[in-house]
Amino acid sequence: MLNVDLHCHSNVSDGVLSPAAVAQYAYKAGVDVWGLTDHDEIGGIPAARAAAADIGMGFIPGVEISITWASQTVHIVGLRIDETNPVLLQGLAATRSGRDARGREMAAQLAAAGIPGAYEGALRYVGNPDLMSRTHFARYLIETGACSTIPEVFRKYLTEGKPGYVPHRWASLEQAVGWIKSAGGIAVIAHPGRYKFSPVAEGALFDEFKQLGGTAIEVVTGSHTPDQYPVYAELARRYGFLASRGTDFHAPGESRAEFSLLPPLPSNVTPVWHDWF
Ligand code: AMP
Ligand code: MN
Ligand code: MN
Ligand code: MN
Repeated sequence: MLNVDLHCHSNVSDGVLSPAAVAQYAYKAGVDVWGLTDHDEIGGIPAARAAAADIGMGFIPGVEISITWASQTVHIVGLRIDETNPVLLQGLAATRSGRDARGREMAAQLAAAGIPGAYEGALRYVGNPDLMSRTHFARYLIETGACSTIPEVFRKYLTEGKPGYVPHRWASLEQAVGWIKSAGGIAVIAHPGRYKFSPVAEGALFDEFKQLGGTAIEVVTGSHTPDQYPVYAELARRYGFLASRGTDFHAPGESRAEFSLLPPLPSNVTPVWHDWF
């Protein structure tokens, strides 16, 4: 069976390895077909594609778009996108804008909470100045000793009600799905088990996504717990979604699954890649 991994990050967003280094890392861990899905940014795709071709690994160009739905941040993955499509490029540029100002506000809150220098500190971890993310602040909070792991950071800081949380209005669901479709891609709800929706709200998200032309949901992802795999497999079947799979890799040993440890999709779902190769 092919090891298909359709969700991971490079240092073009909040991962730590360059696109070419992620390609090497994934290939060595046994990945056959690899998708790069940086947050709100496609700048890593040409280097990723070239590296995958050099190694002889399949490559799927992707992106993970931040949206706001029912007052929560949700992530929509676009797969098999044309990364040169102007509608997509313009939408992503608009989505990225505002991240720097948000970072400065986050730093001001952290300073008030007794952690100075967070803007400059986070910036040292940023590979792409357009894409300052909470993950970069998390790495700085570990560096200062305020926390020792990434999950601890997100329990104590940077999330709603905690120091360093700055609410942000991202794209709409309709925009994100529209941009992905304009670029010839397939829209996928990323790690649906991570959101704090009631079952009714989650059903409404799935219904709206389907109506807008969304195709798949992630079932097996490093951002789900193993007990969520069968739950989201069942929901994919009930709503008629294809199923996607990916580690959500950010950095070796950093809180998300390693490429070699992610299980295959359950056999009762149709993989999003069923008619690709
Ligand atoms: P941002 O797009 O700046 O809001 O940052 C979101 C990123 O923070 C996500 O893509 C994850 O990489 C990371 N993140 C958010 N919540 C958590 C969490 N609970 N545990 C680990 N990483 C998280
Ligand atoms: Mn991330
Ligand atoms: Mn995500
Ligand atoms: Mn991700």
